[in-house]
Amino acid sequence: MRVMVLGGGFGGLELTTRLSEEFGDDIDIVLIDKGDGFVFGFSKLEVMFGRALAPTVHHPYRDLVKPGVRFVQTTVRSIDPVAKRVETDAGAFESDILVVALGADLHPDATPGLLEGGNEFYTVAGAFALRDVLAEFDGGRVIVGVTSTPFKCPPAPSETALLMHDMLTARGIRDRSSIALVMPLGVPIPPSPAASRALLTAFAERGIEWHPERLITGLDAERKVALLSNGDEMPYDLFLGIPVHRAPDVVVSSGLTVDGWIPVDPLTLATRFPGVYAVGDVTSVGTPKAGVFAEGQAAVVAHQIASTINGAEPTTTYDGHGTCYLEFGDHEVAIVDVTFLSGQAPFGDMAGPSAELAADKIEFGRSRIQRWFGREWDPAATPIG
Ligand SMILES: Cc1cc2nc3c(=O)[nH]c(=O)nc-3n(C[C@H](O)[C@H](O)[C@H](O)COP(=O)(O)OP(=O)(O)OC[C@H]3O[C@@H](n4cnc5c(N)ncnc54)[C@H](O)[C@@H]3O)c2cc1C
Repeated sequence: MRVMVLGGGFGGLELTTRLSEEFGDDIDIVLIDKGDGFVFGFSKLEVMFGRALAPTVHHPYRDLVKPGVRFVQTTVRSIDPVAKRVETDAGAFESDILVVALGADLHPDATPGLLEGGNEFYTVAGAFALRDVLAEFDGGRVIVGVTSTPFKCPPAPSETALLMHDMLTARGIRDRSSIALVMPLGVPIPPSPAASRALLTAFAERGIEWHPERLITGLDAERKVALLSNGDEMPYDLFLGIPVHRAPDVVVSSGLTVDGWIPVDPLTLATRFPGVYAVGDVTSVGTPKAGVFAEGQAAVVAHQIASTINGAEPTTTYDGHGTCYLEFGDHEVAIVDVTFLSGQAPFGDMAGPSAELAADKIEFGRSRIQRWFGREWDPAATPIG
C-alpha cells in the first residue's frame, strides 16, 4: 500500500506522523513538498516583531526521519486524481491512496499597489523581511488590512494590531502613531462572541481603530492611501496586508476544486475521487483555514487510511473542533475553543488571556516539533534579535 501525501505543512506532517507511528516500516509513504522546511504561522509574527530569529523557527525536512516515510523535496506540477498519480520536477509518482494537503497559495500581486506601496506578513519571506522594516519604523499611521476572503488564521490580523501596539509602546513612539485594523468581518472572531468582546475591549483600551465589514481593494502607492471596498480612503505610513489566498494552480487544474477549493465529505475528508482525500487550507470543508483544523482533519484521514489497510470499519469521523491560541500582547495569550459542524452555526468560547496560556502555546509548538521531526525545540529559548 503506497500512500502519497502532497504538502508537508500542518496537515501533511500530522498525517505522515500518525501513519508512521501505527505502521512503521510496514507502510510506504511518500511525502512531497517543494520547500526545505516547515515554519509555524505564528512564528512569522515572532520573527517580524523581533521576538525570535528566522533560523530558529525554520524546521528542516532533512530532520524528518520516520519509519515508512520518504520525504521528497520537489514541486508538484500536475495531479491526476483518477490514476492517483502526480508529475513533479523529480519525475512521476504513483499511489494507492493520495492525500492533497497543499494549503493555500498567497498572491500579494493580486492587490493593486500592495507590492509597490505596502508589505504583507502572510508569506514566510514577507514576514521575515518585515523584521527590518518594523525595526526602522519611526512612528506614523499603521494599517493592518485584509484584502480578500477566505484568509488563514482569522485572529492573526487582530494579533498583529495588538503586537504592533506593544512594539510602538516599548519604543516610545506610540504617542505619535495610530493603528487601524480593516477586516471583512463584523466582529474579530465571529464563532466566539467572548473572544470578539475581549478583542474589541483590548482595541478600545489601546486606542486601536476597528474598521469592520470592509476589505482593502488596493493601495495608491504614490499618495500612500489605502482604498477600501466601501469607497473610503485611508492614508498610511506603514501598511501590513493580508494577501489574496487561492488554492495552488496545480490543484485547480487537476479538476479537484469547485469554486476555487476542494470539496470534501465533512466527516471523512474524502474527495469525490475514490482513494483521494484532502485536508487543511486547500479544502472548503467549512472550518477556518488554520493549522489546528488541518491537524484534526489529518488525524481523521490517518484513521480512514489505517482502517482501509487493516480491513476494519472506521470508527472516528471529523468533529470540526479546534483550539486556537490568540496573542493579546504583553506576553499574554488566550485560547479560543471553536466547533464547526456542517448544517449548524459554529460555536465557541475563550479562556484567558494569561501568562499560563502563553506557556501552553509554547508547549503546543514544542510538542508538534518533537512528534513531527523527533527533535527538541524550545520556542521560548530562541534568541531574541
Ligand atoms: C501570520 C499567521 C499566523 C498563523 N497563526 C496560526 C496559529 O496560531 N494557529 C493555527 O492553527 N494556524 C495559524 N496559522 C494558519 C496556518 O499556518 C495554516 O492554516 C496551516 O499551515 C495550514 O496547514 P495546511 O497543511 O493546510 O497547509 P500548509 O501548512 O500551508 O502546507 C502546505 C504545503 O504545501 C506545499 N506546497 C504547495 N504547493 C506545492 C507544490 N506545487 N508542490 C509541492 N509542495 C507544494 C507548501 O510548500 C507547504 O509546505 C497562521 C497563519 C499565518 C499566516
